Amino acid sequence: MKQQYNDFGNWIRKQFSFRVQKIAIDAGFTCPNRDGRIGTGGCIFCDNRTFNPSYCIRNKTIAQQLEDGKQFFARKYPEMKFLAYFQAYTNTYASVEKLRNMYEEALKIDEVVGLVIGTRPDCVDSSLLDYLEELNRKTFLIVEYGIESCNDKTLRFINRGHDFACSKRAIELQPNGVSKLEGI
Ligand code: SF4
Repeated sequence: MKQQYNDFGNWIRKQFSFRVQKIAIDAGFTCPNRDGRIGTGGCIFCDNRTFNPSYCIRNKTIAQQLEDGKQFFARKYPEMKFLAYFQAYTNTYASVEKLRNMYEEALKIDEVVGLVIGTRPDCVDSSLLDYLEELNRKTFLIVEYGIESCNDKTLRFINRGHDFACSKRAIELQPNGVSKLEGI
């Protein structure tokens, strides 16, 4: 029988035989809900400065942010390993080749044992899933789709820039399809 977990903390502890800590990265992405592709105002709660830790600064390289993040957490649990957390803005909003270079830069860092990638449902397509499937054969991988609500009225209120049908399409999407993210 499939094991049930009542929260993310319990689940992640079962995935590794050691402690893991996410290190947030600002890899310099923007977001279609901010750069004008969909909108410019962003979601009403969007303020990436409020959750970026001090080591997470976009004008540093991904590698440097991870090394600084490791130093930051090393005092707490010296035996800890790390997940590179592509958190700020929309972390699949680029060509697959550009994403590959960024994610693989993170995976080259010692003690980084996987990736967490935060994105939005309208920035996921089948060609990206092909690559993520390939990546997931090599490393631990979580992709956060940011499904903020199933209610279109709420999604409009928070200025999310997509409806729930868009989220549903992303959840059901399979690899090996036709790209919908033309022009990125
Ligand atoms: S999707 Fe994320 S980065 Fe984009 S506007 Fe909303 S909260 Fe901000």
